[in-house]
Amino acid sequence: MTLTIRDLSVAYDDVPAVRGVSLEVPDGSVLAVLGPSGCGKSTLLRGVAGLEQATGSVAWDGEDVTRLPTHRRGFALMFQDGQLFDHLTVGRNVGYALRLRSRGRAARATEHARVEELLALVGLEGYADRLPRTLSGGERQRVALARSLAHQPRLLLLDEPLSALDAGLRRHLAGELREILTRAGTTALMVTHDHEEAFSVADRLAVMREGRLVQEGPIDEVWRSPVDAGTALFLGYARVLEGDAARRVLAAAGAPAAAAVAVRRSAVVVDERGPLEGEVRSIRSTPQLQRLVVAVDGLGDLDAVAPLDHRTSPGDRVRLGVDVTRVAALAGD
Ligand code: ADP
Repeated sequence: MTLTIRDLSVAYDDVPAVRGVSLEVPDGSVLAVLGPSGCGKSTLLRGVAGLEQATGSVAWDGEDVTRLPTHRRGFALMFQDGQLFDHLTVGRNVGYALRLRSRGRAARATEHARVEELLALVGLEGYADRLPRTLSGGERQRVALARSLAHQPRLLLLDEPLSALDAGLRRHLAGELREILTRAGTTALMVTHDHEEAFSVADRLAVMREGRLVQEGPIDEVWRSPVDAGTALFLGYARVLEGDAARRVLAAAGAPAAAAVAVRRSAVVVDERGPLEGEVRSIRSTPQLQRLVVAVDGLGDLDAVAPLDHRTSPGDRVRLGVDVTRVAALAGD
């Protein structure tokens, strides 16, 4: 079961906002669409949801839903500001969609059990009788998430779900969001302008610019081989190596000189026997890999990749090598 988006385009008053995007979101995976503000991310999401008139097609598990109205697509939406009903309790907010579909005492008992189950899923047991205004921003977003999962949607569409929160909470909740989606087995398409958020929540990454998709793939692949310098910087690279700087790194690492231009992308890996040496300045762990910035002797800061089981802390000395196979592959493209 896969979401398949083919050649999707959306225009506002003849001005294109999304231009021919094709994407797949495999069952049970979370794909983050990452791009700067105004690049068309939300419009893409709204096109998939059926909230904007689009050309191209959207299919779930082979079923073409392009002509179906939003409420018949079996997708749920969650927005930046959660959009809770302030006059309803947490329990009634979460159960709202359930109540629309079922009536009677037996249905109410089932609803109650399901609401409790959903609140437990998002770590808010015992919150059913609280009113939204008594909750923190993070708690409100968790309620919104529980509500959007109430019907076990076949696809969850998330529009900047954590952007309204402050930085610390955002980081914390990003990890939780991933856990909740994994536990519920939800297939999700999330749009965000924040690479940290994308890396923390998603399995796959699609990078958008000016309405078009510029790159798509498993998160670690995209991180290791950004399609161009602009993408690398947008993904959070500390430095993009080009020209002489790239050649110096390659020469120091003993990699083939012909591959010089390709090292601007992160072909630098933590390797005990690698020829480069430097001090770890920062580490950002994601569920798939560790992204390090290392001050390499004589060469300056380099972005590097380490496997998750490599233990290191800022200030440690590490050895680095250049992933020659990857560099060779990139040089050939
Ligand atoms: P993002 O989510 O990446 O910030 P959007 O999808 O919101 O980008 O917007 C993409 C482009 O479409 C922008 O240029 C924006 O101004 C324009 N746009 C978005 N919504 C509308 C609308 N309802 N009417 C007209 N133009 C819009």
